[in-house]
Amino acid sequence: MKILVTGGSGLVGSGIKRVTNNYSKGHYLYEGREFYFATSSDGNLVNYEETKSLFEKIKPTHVIHLAAKVGGLFSNLRQNVEFFNDNMDINRNVLHCCYLYKVEKCISCLSTCIFPNKTTYPIDETMIHNGGPHESNIGYSYAKRMIDVINHCYNSQYGCNFTSIIPTNIYGPNDNFNIEDGHVIPGLIHKCYLAKEKNEDFVIWGSGTPLRQFIYADDLARLILWCLDNYDNHEPIILSVDEEDEVSIKEVALLVAKHMNFEGNIVFDSSKSDGQFKKTANNKKLRSIYPDYKFQSIENGIKTTCDWFKKNFENARK
Ligand code: NAP
Ligand code: GDP
Repeated sequence: MKILVTGGSGLVGSGIKRVTNNYSKGHYLYEGREFYFATSSDGNLVNYEETKSLFEKIKPTHVIHLAAKVGGLFSNLRQNVEFFNDNMDINRNVLHCCYLYKVEKCISCLSTCIFPNKTTYPIDETMIHNGGPHESNIGYSYAKRMIDVINHCYNSQYGCNFTSIIPTNIYGPNDNFNIEDGHVIPGLIHKCYLAKEKNEDFVIWGSGTPLRQFIYADDLARLILWCLDNYDNHEPIILSVDEEDEVSIKEVALLVAKHMNFEGNIVFDSSKSDGQFKKTANNKKLRSIYPDYKFQSIENGIKTTCDWFKKNFENARK
């Protein structure tokens, strides 16, 4: 099995690297599998010829397709056009090359933030196309939804084994800690680090009331590898912690402050957007086939990520 991981240098790709390092030490039944972690320097996947060259060079039997233009709420608000165009191009190119190079299985990555804005909760896999997404990330959402459409088309016309996973908000070491562009946990960790250093307030954007389910990158990595062996259906599968593990942004901010040893003032800037209030996802499908998977607790995950950021401040993506 030769597995091409697109987006291999990102948050999730580096989670898979950590987990597969363990595999090669014999802890898991993944020995003998060859992983190739591609980055944008191996080929710009927005460009069809460069994508084809990468497939020609690697000739993968399996693809874990993670590469995407990714950003938090505020980055999406500023660049909906680029989020749509880049992700449409990347996904069309990668999936078409999976077809051309007869890849046996491709797992692509959607997100719970692409679901309809007006919906009933909890959301499940059948509801992706039931209505327009939240206006804040409309470009990213529609481009990601098209992965599901492309998967269905290649499956029905050519019998391709293309599927997709739907993670919630992901965090962990090697995330993008850029304050303007990143997601909430890396953004808060970086802001808290600076507030502590400069003896300033720790400012949380928005009201702190929105709710999110967060998944630690290494949990997602293990579940993606599990899907490679155990999930063979072109319909997507939600990879999420349980509904009762949903937390507010305020709770997350307090955990960040605790593990960054921040003792100053924590303030909420309600002039900033809250985005979608919640995206509560139901993981029944996952639990029905993998009932006993134990997720990292949000507290441990945030502690590990804060410790990683403090240790790697100079070289972290920020
Ligand atoms: P990330 O840390 O931002 O990494 C993105 C990866 O994609 C990097 O390896 C980057 O390569 C690569 N990439 C971006 N544009 C590329 C291009 N034009 N050509 C080739 N490679 C390109 O992303 P992530 O957080 O790991 O996300 C992985 C997947 O999970 C994505 O599909 C994302 O949509 C999905 N997802 C993420 C979240 C989240 O909270 N982060 C939540 C739900 C779903 P370079 O390093 O070389 O630039
Ligand atoms: P989302 O989960 O897709 O909406 O994206 P984010 O990871 O960017 O989370 C956005 C939520 O966190 C919104 O409710 C924001 O108001 C809140 N938030 C609070 N502080 C920050 C911050 O420093 N950065 C980001 N990205 N969001 C923040």
